[in-house]
Amino acid sequence: MEILDGKIASLSIKQQLKNQIDTLINNNHRPPHLAAVLVGTNGASETYVASKVKNCEAIGFRSTLIRLPDNIDEPALLNTIEKLNNDDEVDGILVQLPLPKQINEQHIISAIDPAKDVDGFHPVSVGKMVQGSPSFISATPYGIMLLLEHYKIETKGKQAVVIGRSNIVGRPMSILLSNNHPYGNCTVTLCHSHTKNLKELCQQADILVAALGKPQFVTADMVKEGAIVIDVGITRIEDATTKSGYRIKGDVAFDEVAPKTSYITPVPGGVGLMTIAGLLKNTMLAYSQRSGND
Ligand code: NAD
Repeated sequence: MEILDGKIASLSIKQQLKNQIDTLINNNHRPPHLAAVLVGTNGASETYVASKVKNCEAIGFRSTLIRLPDNIDEPALLNTIEKLNNDDEVDGILVQLPLPKQINEQHIISAIDPAKDVDGFHPVSVGKMVQGSPSFISATPYGIMLLLEHYKIETKGKQAVVIGRSNIVGRPMSILLSNNHPYGNCTVTLCHSHTKNLKELCQQADILVAALGKPQFVTADMVKEGAIVIDVGITRIEDATTKSGYRIKGDVAFDEVAPKTSYITPVPGGVGLMTIAGLLKNTMLAYSQRSGND
């Protein structure tokens, strides 16, 4: 069993990006600029956005955090998006999800200029990804593809099972693994809450991606000997013994599953770190396409 270490792979990607930025700055170009919009004060969202901003700054990107109140209405949020769309010095726009109930997320996602859609959620980006054309790819599935690439995992012809069909993780993951490219070409089964024979399907998987948000859901009896297991799940479990008051759990029962696998991602230290790497790569791409510099 080998760990697919998100820390090692993401550090390598961040170092490559930092080298690119250093060259840009030495040539008197401005750095890429990511604008993150955070609505309200949800604890997990605060943590994710803070980490994205910190990582931008660490590699030399410019970042702007726009905080908006929980009770903001849709026209006001759309107005903020429009301003960012029209700001020539903003390359990437990220709106942290989830948004409060009074706001239709799809309206907001669709309002982002597709050229600045570094989260890869805009219908234009999704459509291009489905066709296998170059596009911004949703950061978590993109991060997983980068992890497979870093460890040179052979995927061609393998049976892949993805648990979870959300627009941000499971569905794009299933498409990327099935697309005709070096870390795709799998035969993919996409499972969800209505899938009947989930355990049997998982047992046949050479590659198993768990993205359902149910801690420790995937147990050893569901996993084929030698499988590659990717754990996307992040659930906060209360734990008074930790400084933060919670502990992060993945969707895979790591201790019992790991010995059966050929490769497995840990939680934390796996997919979460790669998600940031995916976002940074998307922002660099947006900058290069908009400015002509790379
Ligand atoms: P979601 O709630 O939008 O989707 C969950 C999916 O799982 C749904 O499609 C549902 O049909 C399926 N599902 C639920 N119960 C199931 C069951 N018993 N059997 C089969 N399928 C079932 O969640 P999401 O936004 O896709 O996130 C999934 C998990 O990944 C969460 O824990 C989330 O926190 C985590 N996540 C992690 C990262 C990261 O960077 N590591 C990024 C995004 C999401």
